[in-house]
Amino acid sequence: MSSIVVVGAGIIGVAIAYELQRRDLAVTLVDRDAPGRGASYGNMASIAVTEFMPASRPGIWAQMPKWLLDPEGPVRIRPGYMPKLVPWFLRFLAASRPSKLRELEAAGAVLCRRVYEDLDALLKETGLTHMLTAEGCFSLYADEAEFKADREHIEILERFGLRHEILGGNAIRDLEPALTTKIGKAVLFPDNRSITDPYRLVTALAETFQALGGKVVEGDVAGFEQSEAGVSALRLADGRSLAAGKVVLAAGAFTARLSALLREYIPLETERGYHTQIMEPGISMRHSIIWPARAFMVTPTAGGIRVGGTVEMAGLDAPPDYRRARILVMRAREALPELKTGEVTEWMGHRPALPDTVPVIGPSAKRGNVWYATGHGHLGLTYAATTGRLMADLVTGVQPPVDMKPYRVDRF
Ligand SMILES: Cc1cc2nc3c(=O)[nH]c(=O)nc-3n(C[C@H](O)[C@H](O)[C@H](O)COP(=O)(O)OP(=O)(O)OC[C@H]3O[C@@H](n4cnc5c(N)ncnc54)[C@H](O)[C@@H]3O)c2cc1C
Repeated sequence: MSSIVVVGAGIIGVAIAYELQRRDLAVTLVDRDAPGRGASYGNMASIAVTEFMPASRPGIWAQMPKWLLDPEGPVRIRPGYMPKLVPWFLRFLAASRPSKLRELEAAGAVLCRRVYEDLDALLKETGLTHMLTAEGCFSLYADEAEFKADREHIEILERFGLRHEILGGNAIRDLEPALTTKIGKAVLFPDNRSITDPYRLVTALAETFQALGGKVVEGDVAGFEQSEAGVSALRLADGRSLAAGKVVLAAGAFTARLSALLREYIPLETERGYHTQIMEPGISMRHSIIWPARAFMVTPTAGGIRVGGTVEMAGLDAPPDYRRARILVMRAREALPELKTGEVTEWMGHRPALPDTVPVIGPSAKRGNVWYATGHGHLGLTYAATTGRLMADLVTGVQPPVDMKPYRVDRF
């Protein structure tokens, strides 16, 4: 039996490979690196079911000029990269029409509503339920003006019936005593729980996949051999070739480089993000926190406290600029005055970002035996179990439980 080859052993590819293998198929997972070393390594660990709204919404546009003019702001476009970003940016603009926004919100909400059904099942089957924490996430506001500026976000959640609870300053500090008294208001998202160690989740799933008979191959996919039926083999950079009956391309932000070899254009960009992992923070936290006006996130993880966020548009090849990680830590200390920063590690990862914020989960429009799972943006960890389930349905010809049209690759 020819194998299904999944390219990319990030959380998305591993979730898909596991789900296909579980269905008793012969699956090979190929990555140029060990599993989980891409964006899935250092994300903010949040199952962020309340964060599906399109980045092209009016509230973001309103803040954009201020953000872009501030070199320490939450969004930075490296000047040299601006010309390359134009086609993506025009599509981002097109995704801002009010009627389009409603469609995109609905497409994100459909996935988010399924997240716990799929994630709970995946964690239970693999014995990893302990990796999902019970606590939610706080969105913080210094005052009424900051809260009002984020009102659009809350209104969208209300429209889709996602749980949230508004709290005053004292009530928040009762729940999270390390927070500064400068916080006057917060919204608790009880369902935005987190994963204690997102990297370990990928490696544990990859191990379970192998225990079920799945094969992991280390190799850099550099090309495709094609026949009438579609792709027949993958060519690796070292000259090896990997026969394939079906191919799923889940190479994160690098997927468009592979799809281009099949003459399929995906308007995929990288939204580069940073984290600082603080091993001995000197405080303890139960919830993760986001301060929208300061644009950072803090998550308690198995290996200390993780501070992260930010969006840097600079392409796939530019070296990291770790000043961005340090700015986030400075901001985090405004919220958590007792936070100590002794021993830390810094990291940068590539969020695979589509201009309309909705991931691609579907068949190639050009090759009969190729599928794509990419563009999960800020929510790849959140959507992973659901993408694994939906993609396994598509590849095996089972009708998925949701309408897959909004996620097709040729929608742009
Ligand atoms: C700072 C930051 C914070 C984030 N926080 C969150 C969060 O809290 N919650 C959330 O849900 N999401 C979050 N995300 C987003 C999330 O991490 C990503 O959406 C997700 O990791 C994408 O997974 P992936 O498997 O598609 O890509 P990746 O994890 O990048 O995996 C892609 C894999 O493909 C491989 N590959 C690429 N090209 C080739 C090739 N030619 N041949 C072989 N292998 C190849 C790479 O080596 C890599 O292992 C965050 C991201 C960042 C950067």
